[in-house]
Amino acid sequence: MTVTTVAAYAAPAPKAPLERTTVPRRPVGEHDVLIDIKYAGICHSDIHQARNGWGEGIFPMVPGHEIAGVVAEVGPGVTKFEVGDRVGVGCMVDSCRTCENCLAGLEQYCSEGNVGTYNAVGKDGEPTYGGYSTHVVVDENYTLRIPEGIALDEAAPLLCAGITTYSPLAHWKAGPGKKVAIVGLGGLGHMGVKIAHALGAEVTVLSQTLRKEADGLKLGADHYFATSDPETFQQLKGSFDLIVSTVSAPLPLDAYLALLKTDGAMVNVGAPEEPVSLNLFSVIGGRKTLAGSGIGGIRETQEMLDFCAQHSLGAEIELIRADQINEAYERVLASDVRYRFVIDTATI
Ligand code: NAP
Ligand code: ZN
Ligand code: ZN
Repeated sequence: MTVTTVAAYAAPAPKAPLERTTVPRRPVGEHDVLIDIKYAGICHSDIHQARNGWGEGIFPMVPGHEIAGVVAEVGPGVTKFEVGDRVGVGCMVDSCRTCENCLAGLEQYCSEGNVGTYNAVGKDGEPTYGGYSTHVVVDENYTLRIPEGIALDEAAPLLCAGITTYSPLAHWKAGPGKKVAIVGLGGLGHMGVKIAHALGAEVTVLSQTLRKEADGLKLGADHYFATSDPETFQQLKGSFDLIVSTVSAPLPLDAYLALLKTDGAMVNVGAPEEPVSLNLFSVIGGRKTLAGSGIGGIRETQEMLDFCAQHSLGAEIELIRADQINEAYERVLASDVRYRFVIDTATI
């Protein structure tokens, strides 16, 4: 098969509204699968990048790294997938495969840098284009299997929001007897609550207001507090073994670190555009850890999908048409999302 042109939604320039266009997809190679994309989630990272919030992007940009679809064609060397399989693609589509991190299944931390699903340059020297599109060609080794039992539209957000919260919760051993706080009840945050609850931890949501309290408790939280209320920080001092922040804006870290127990850890998966400041005494007292975490490796992403299927954990979604993407971006920026916008790619 030769290069094909497929329909997509792209930002033609930084901060410009996304519009319908076409992009090339490479021929299906020896180890590639052609995926008929059914759904693509909208991650806040799409917005950061489409607006150059993390630095200079590659335009036109087709965002989308929460991809769920069905295999439409396989290359001759493909052994893991067959036509008709339900599959997903997350934030990366390649890596060096030989460095210490790749060999350890931590491809997201590839020492040469992983190849992003979009806003990156592939090994063929061409820009990568993401999931706001009808089809994508991906190496089978960076393609995930979506288990039966999770609807494809509810599975799409697991490919980023799911793995990005599962990975630190698993690494820092959230489970029975552990008190875990999830900061921010958006796309990542709501999956963090579901997963931490399924792992057996006692879960607290720290949200800006109590507006979403009923939802938070329904998702599996045991407690819910508003961070706009200064009393919250008094009441919860020294409470948590683990805090996972999913907040897309800078937080007053010293105030949150005070909520940890001795030896507790605060892990930031939220990736604000501006630097944050820290008083080191906030970690010295109580031997605390301030950490970050990026998505998850391929093996761990499959483990997360299987875990979610076993516990019937899909995302809470609002399905939208492609022509609603720009409006959805504004709503995400206003924290008005319950809890992930997912594009029905049939409307592209
Ligand atoms: P989202 O749906 O917009 O959720 C973020 C939540 O943070 C909001 O719902 C809101 O929750 C809270 N928030 C927003 N602005 C805030 C502010 N100024 N102060 C305090 N809280 C605020 O976004 P998302 O898609 O979950 O992504 C969250 C962040 O994670 C983004 O920065 C994204 O780029 C990043 N991310 C990182 C990785 C990684 O690998 N590390 C992967 C994916 C995404 P409340 O309304 O409950 O307060
Ligand atoms: Zn994402
Ligand atoms: Zn590598």
